Amino acid sequence: MKETAHLIHDYLRSSKKFPHIWCAGCGIGIFMNALIRVIDRIGYSKDDVVLISGIGCSGRLPVYVDFNTLHTTHGRALTFATGMKLAKPHLKVITIMGDGDAIAIGGNHLIHAARRNVEIPTFVVNNNVYGMTGGQCSPTTPHKAKTTSSPYGNLEPDFDICRVVEAAGAAFVARSTVYHTRLLDQLIGKALKKKGFAMVEVISQCVTYSGRWLGLDSPVEMMKWQKNNAIRVETARNLSETELKGRIAIGVLADREQPSYCEEYEKLL
Ligand code: SF4
Repeated sequence: MKETAHLIHDYLRSSKKFPHIWCAGCGIGIFMNALIRVIDRIGYSKDDVVLISGIGCSGRLPVYVDFNTLHTTHGRALTFATGMKLAKPHLKVITIMGDGDAIAIGGNHLIHAARRNVEIPTFVVNNNVYGMTGGQCSPTTPHKAKTTSSPYGNLEPDFDICRVVEAAGAAFVARSTVYHTRLLDQLIGKALKKKGFAMVEVISQCVTYSGRWLGLDSPVEMMKWQKNNAIRVETARNLSETELKGRIAIGVLADREQPSYCEEYEKLL
């Protein structure tokens, strides 16, 4: 335990960028720790890693870690990442986005990065809400949920980010929660090594806002909710849409070999 804490501290810009802005009990920090652990385990040097984010609570993550980092405009992380990867293909270019960043403002970029199969491991921390701006509904907010922008209940059906990205052609698509840390580590590792566009949706708790419509008032309760509602994708495949309602299918949803845009671009050059 102590070793892990020291390891994480080796990767933080503790003296410059802290205290961080995340609320106590937010799940983004759990994901950040997992990402650092896996990068360290694989052995990438700090100079070879580029973390690129957009805007939002998750978008703050690259600010806190000691890699090459870019904190860009809302929804545009993948556009910066695509340029970076094509210009410097030897670098491990990673994007970090929240649900609003990835599938609302940046939805078109997400679809086309998946379609092109650009080699960018992408992590979408989905807390089902716009947290930084005050708890408004995002495209992944559940139908009927009461948020600050839907006080009478959300009228919109919610998006399944993994289905969208899989349908768009991504080479690797997976989902975990921040409760399932071992699975999360495994999926991050697979995504980082994948040749092609790899997206992992990370279900996380926004303790300040999304806990309210779930009727859960602590991070512990929210993580128990993740634990109790998660179901392995292998089991989920045998269930009907009705049986799957409210459940979180976790594991690898798609893993396929296809030419990556970067390989094709190299050939052309
Ligand atoms: Fe995390 Fe929500 Fe707080 Fe943002 S508002 S830091 S997502 S708990």
